[in-house]
Amino acid sequence: MPDLAAEVARLSRELAQTEARVQQQTQILDQIHDSVIAMDLAGFITQWNKGAERLFGYTAQEAIGNNILFLYVDEDQEVDLQLQDIFLEHGGREMEVRRRKKSGEVFWASLSLSLLRDDHGEPNGLIGYLSDITERKRSEERINYLAYYDAITGLPNRSLMNILIDQSLVEAKRGKQLGALLFIDLNRFKPINDTLGHEVGDRLLQQVGQRFRTALRNADMVARLGGDEFVAALFNITKREHAGNVAQKLLDALDAPILLDGHELSIDASIGISIFPDDGPDSATLLRYADVAMYRAKQSPQKSYAFFSPEMNQMAVGRLNIESGLRRAMERGELLLHYQAKVNINTGRIIGAEALVRWNHPERGMVSPAEFIPIAEETGLIVNIGEWVLEEACSQARTWEQKGVPPLKLAVNISARQISPRLPHSIGALLDRHGLTPDWLELELTESMLMNNTDSVIGMMDELNAMGISLSLDDFGTGFSSLSYLKRFPIDTLKIDRSFVTGTPNDPDDCAIAGAIVGMAKQLRLNVIAEGVENLDQLAFLKSLGCDEIQGFLFSRPLPADQIIAMVNADQRLGAD
Ligand code: C2E
Ligand code: MG
Ligand code: MG
Repeated sequence: MPDLAAEVARLSRELAQTEARVQQQTQILDQIHDSVIAMDLAGFITQWNKGAERLFGYTAQEAIGNNILFLYVDEDQEVDLQLQDIFLEHGGREMEVRRRKKSGEVFWASLSLSLLRDDHGEPNGLIGYLSDITERKRSEERINYLAYYDAITGLPNRSLMNILIDQSLVEAKRGKQLGALLFIDLNRFKPINDTLGHEVGDRLLQQVGQRFRTALRNADMVARLGGDEFVAALFNITKREHAGNVAQKLLDALDAPILLDGHELSIDASIGISIFPDDGPDSATLLRYADVAMYRAKQSPQKSYAFFSPEMNQMAVGRLNIESGLRRAMERGELLLHYQAKVNINTGRIIGAEALVRWNHPERGMVSPAEFIPIAEETGLIVNIGEWVLEEACSQARTWEQKGVPPLKLAVNISARQISPRLPHSIGALLDRHGLTPDWLELELTESMLMNNTDSVIGMMDELNAMGISLSLDDFGTGFSSLSYLKRFPIDTLKIDRSFVTGTPNDPDDCAIAGAIVGMAKQLRLNVIAEGVENLDQLAFLKSLGCDEIQGFLFSRPLPADQIIAMVNADQRLGAD
């Protein structure tokens, strides 16, 4: 059967050709760097090139015959695999998928699928081209992360925060809901950062961020603005007060100390709250106002929160004006001293005067120290102002002395910020410079400055005392001093705060407090003076208690230097009669 032999020969020739073609195709496929995987319509792998071997780590023998699903990442397998559907949906297009290597490593790949057809044009499989895009994906994520997240805490940064807030405000507006921005500033973070180092500081911020995150609900946002500032944003509140509750929760979250490298670190915060839409329409305004309110919260002694109010904003603007104005005031000589007489309650004679600083503002006229001293204290300007006041008071005293006025105690208020171990030395030098004996000078201190750093403060006061300078405790009764506590300080005089004098002799509480203070002073053999005495009833009551001296409008308002000295001279003439 020559025909048969010929047929066999033809078939084997064709077979050889087919094999050669397959061989060639395989070679071509292997030349392609990307991985190429062919599969039938049920997803069973029929071809697996060298690129696929390199990428997945499976050889062709291991891979062919397996279902393509074995490359999928677990969670993706839930997807019911309908290859034709996938193809219809994605065929020809590139998509980004996650796949698993033999090593178990999951990676990102770009995948494009094409349909394979048999001789009759019927679909009989798919061919997929995959390339690893993990690197690209990673750098995309990294860029995204750096642009929108804080590297230390992993929380959203300022940019992302603004986007998220503005987006949520649109929704809050639509849902007629309130929103709240909480501006959080840590207290005493800087000293920790400075003494224990930035690395500890960073980890502290991380922990604080985590505590805030856990204290809040998922729908709330917390971001780090930088430094020790965080912002929390709430968008689904129905009442303003809810924001206060959340602020309290955030403050409480810092109650437990944070352990780092064997250090037990305590930190707390001040929080300012602004409410959408009442306080402002957008993230920038709300943030500014929450910051203003935070500033107010900072002024109260401990961890606390405050809601923004429009008056606060006016005050913040006013404060800035005062701060910049005060700096100029020093240079332009706009500060001056007024003096208020202190009088012996029994003889009615002037025994001294308190120097009270005034600011003659070019536009506003006389500005009260009650307005600018607190700001000077906060900004540290009080140190320069205080130096100027001491200098001016001493130069005034020298003038009076030269005019023959007998030693009159000039009392100068000293701010806590001026307290330093060098104070006695600089006051000694000041007296020398003006050629004054120490009995000309009295320093008025406040209780609050006795509370901190007690031993070094006592040491400093002892030095001043030994130099012959009188010390008095101003605004007494407003702080926390107890009798036993007071005994430790070398003070000559207690000054009863005006607020307790005001109500005497009618208010029983004020009378009781004034009485207790005088009693206490007598036990400690201290001199007592009452400030703010405005009428004769008060005078009579204080006298009956045994108070030694008075100061107040009843006798004289604070006066310019020439007027007070005229008073002193008149007083002296009376005494001589
Ligand atoms: P202070 O030291 O307690 O001064 C007494 C304040 O009471 C003064 O207010 C004085 O004018 C006021 N005053 C005196 N008698 C009466 C009265 O009968 N009735 C009423 N209603 N008020 C009376 P001023 O001058 O406004 O000073 C306020 C505060 O500013 C002072 O309180 C003091 O704490 C601070 N201060 C003033 N000058 C200086 C200063 O040179 N240095 C520092 N560190 N603080 C100063
Ligand atoms: Mg005073
Ligand atoms: Mg006072």
